[in-house]
Amino acid sequence: MAGTVLVTGGTGYIGGEVIDQLLAKGYTVHTTVRSKAKSEERLHQRWKDATGRLKVFEADLMSDDGWAAANAGCDAVAHVASPFPMGVPKDKNDLVIPAMEGTLRALKFAQQAGINRFVQTSSAAAIAYGQKNKDHFDYTDWTNLTEGVPPYIESKTVAERSARDWVAANAPDMIFCSINPVAVFGPVYDDDLSTSVEMVKKIMDGSIPMAPNMGICVTDVRDVAEAHVRAIEAPADKVRGERFPTSQKFMWIEEMAETVRQRAPEFSAKVPTRRMPDFLVKLLALFMPEMKQIKGELGNVRDVSGKHTEDVLGYRFITAEQTIEDTVRSLVAHGIVKV
Ligand code: NAP
Repeated sequence: MAGTVLVTGGTGYIGGEVIDQLLAKGYTVHTTVRSKAKSEERLHQRWKDATGRLKVFEADLMSDDGWAAANAGCDAVAHVASPFPMGVPKDKNDLVIPAMEGTLRALKFAQQAGINRFVQTSSAAAIAYGQKNKDHFDYTDWTNLTEGVPPYIESKTVAERSARDWVAANAPDMIFCSINPVAVFGPVYDDDLSTSVEMVKKIMDGSIPMAPNMGICVTDVRDVAEAHVRAIEAPADKVRGERFPTSQKFMWIEEMAETVRQRAPEFSAKVPTRRMPDFLVKLLALFMPEMKQIKGELGNVRDVSGKHTEDVLGYRFITAEQTIEDTVRSLVAHGIVKV
């Protein structure tokens, strides 16, 4: 039975896909953006076939303005908005504060509006970091902040922990769960690329001449959005308090490059075939913010299992190879990467 759902962060990669799937299922969707002047027309253009079922509200994670109106009349919230930058900020609080306060603000206004189902977009960042000598993780694991982790990892961990503590203390009847995606890939809507998709673009267009000795888990944006929708629709006892990692497979960057080469041979000439020596990554990290982030990940395996999510929510994830191929095809179809 379709109702009305608030999706925060409708301009984002994941938020957009969640809206897509909800509208396709007949829901009415409220979404928040930071600037209506910048985004409202683009959103209405994207979903012009769902006229009247998409309502756009202006609300920032750092201010109370607009949140009551956005929540009014909604049956559930998918809280997706959170800062997700490419580089590392000088001050970690530029990420940690909006992620945490924004989540608590979203929870508080949902409760005030009488909404009883809240799905938070957390991250594998809240699962798989700060734990020495461990390389396989699942929904029961938590990032250990005492080991000192990068600001984005901290922001997602603190946001999820705070949300769970807040629900336990203030809204114990609320049906709260988190979706914890690993790196998200898949079809794009426009050239406003998320940090993870940017990596595939760089593999395709020759801007990574050699593959760093680094790996990531892959999940498809369509599977991430489906997890949100299923978590909104599932019986309360299946999802209350749950954590749902979405993760299909761990891949080394070299394997991702090989997948691009095999599935889109027209890019073979530009796709890296050799591994970048670790010392070079460390050297480049002195000048390039994205290399700085990679430096700490050299040789690490962080294999997060999504099996629990597949089992509880009842569907199977798209294979990582298919996801990479669909990312490539979509980047080409939108003219973002040219052969
Ligand atoms: P994205 O495309 O950058 O979207 C982020 C969204 O958050 C945008 O709509 C952005 O709005 C909004 N936002 C950021 N700061 C805000 C603020 N202060 N007030 C209000 N809105 C704000 O990133 P994404 O990949 O879709 O990520 C969405 C969520 O998934 C985030 O919570 C992220 O941590 C999580 N996640 C992403 C990945 C991934 O690989 N993509 C993996 C795991 C978890 P503006 O348009 O105004 O900037």
